[in-house]
Amino acid sequence: DEMIGPRRIRALHEDVVNKIAAGEIIVAPVHALKELIENAVDAGSTSLEILVKDGGLKLLQISDNGCGINKDDMAILCERFTTSKLKEFEDLQSIGTYGFRGEALASISHIAHLSVTTKTADSSCAWKAHYASGKLAPPKAGQSAEPKACAGRQGTQIQVEDLFYNVPTRRRAFRSASEEYNKIAELVEKYAVHCAHVAFSCKKAGESGAGIAVPVSATVKDRIRILHSGSIANEMVDVEVANEQYGFKAKGLVSTANYIGKRTTMLLFINHRSVDSSVIKRALEQTYSSFLPKGGKPFIYLSLDIEPNRVDVNVHPTKREVNFLNEDEITEMICDEVRVKLGTVDRSRTFMTQS
Ligand code: ADP
Ligand code: MG
Repeated sequence: DEMIGPRRIRALHEDVVNKIAAGEIIVAPVHALKELIENAVDAGSTSLEILVKDGGLKLLQISDNGCGINKDDMAILCERFTTSKLKEFEDLQSIGTYGFRGEALASISHIAHLSVTTKTADSSCAWKAHYASGKLAPPKAGQSAEPKACAGRQGTQIQVEDLFYNVPTRRRAFRSASEEYNKIAELVEKYAVHCAHVAFSCKKAGESGAGIAVPVSATVKDRIRILHSGSIANEMVDVEVANEQYGFKAKGLVSTANYIGKRTTMLLFINHRSVDSSVIKRALEQTYSSFLPKGGKPFIYLSLDIEPNRVDVNVHPTKREVNFLNEDEITEMICDEVRVKLGTVDRSRTFMTQS
């Protein structure tokens, strides 16, 4: 028998590495859209228009009226780890959002056809560029890759076409476009409640219906009324709790004991990023269980500001859950506040369900 020698070890091509990384971060169209929404909000936009084709697999388009991107930055815009929001590692501790660090656009450019049209206030025209694998790319073979001057309003429009076109296994994993659209709509609705002072619209391409539409002037309660229902909005009470020792502030609207949902609706933002927390969710459900009939579930919108140095920013972006210090204490303080509010709003009901 002949011995089999070891095979030679080789480095993967950089583009292959980036493509694998991108596919791990962006698993579904909704993950790409989340980053694009946050970028638009970070840019100071007061209006955000989203257009979706085939559940985001054919097209995700997001147009904002924010500060725009300097033409001179367009060449490096989609390279990995290029950002205008962070300079030093220490800055990680003072940054208000977390998740990707200059990786979102880069990732998208590796697994989709990406184009960006943008205009700053002091530019006389808009600029449009196409990207592939982190770099400027010609829109068609033989054309120039340089940004092209065009007409446009201040702000940025990002088009993501044919997501996962070069990741066939991922593409095949999608069962239905409407399932992906529902995830997108749910995410947009969350941000549209949270980002008061920003108008949101979200539509399926080619459909005449209004889709999601929230005007800029709508209050948080208005937004819940528009996106969810009047009967929920009418049964919401304000909650607010803060604690210096634990470095947090929580503000939100929660349903009273008069609202009995079939399942918990939880709109949770930590430092303005939509996240999941099974710890907070379960604790609040527990709190509500003594106010609601068996099986009744609440509607909760909660915005939690936690001192950034208490939040684990190094959690992998695919983890939708977050870690922060004193999670149990903070959760308990929020539940206490909710309990007090539920008690004062409807004593009679509390009395009834407890007896
Ligand atoms: P990050 O948001 O972590 O900086 P991204 O890859 O998401 O990384 O974006 C890279 C940079 O591109 C941002 O720092 C910002 O300067 C710019 N940018 C992205 N989207 C927009 C937008 N809609 N409006 C203005 N600037 C944007
Ligand atoms: Mg970003």
